[in-house]
Amino acid sequence: MTDLSRVGLAGSRCGQCSETTLGENGRCPNCGSDDMAPVRLSDRGTVWTYTVVRHRPPGDYRGPENFEPFALGLIELPEGLRVVAPIEGDPADVSIGLDVEFTPRLRPDDVVEFAYQPVK
Ligand SMILES: [Zn+2]
Repeated sequence: MTDLSRVGLAGSRCGQCSETTLGENGRCPNCGSDDMAPVRLSDRGTVWTYTVVRHRPPGDYRGPENFEPFALGLIELPEGLRVVAPIEGDPADVSIGLDVEFTPRLRPDDVVEFAYQPVK
């Protein structure tokens, strides 16, 4: 059994200008400094904007065989960056400004993917 409760998004914060980026970065995209330190990004954010995917994507789409429309959000984190990710649940329940929570999940091929779900 895999413990997903400790899984989060990795980020990097600049020691010179405090710019925070997604993933591990050795150089700040804002000021060019190499004074970057790894940080764990917040698990909670808000929906900055979103769209609803109503058609099964072509190619290697790995979602459920019986395609269901889903919301694809641009989630704003407290660190000031935005992350693109699916939002779980009925797309009709999604709105701009909605509080959401990072939700990792394990695919059948043992790869961790993530979405966000509304905070209850
Ligand atoms: Zn910087």
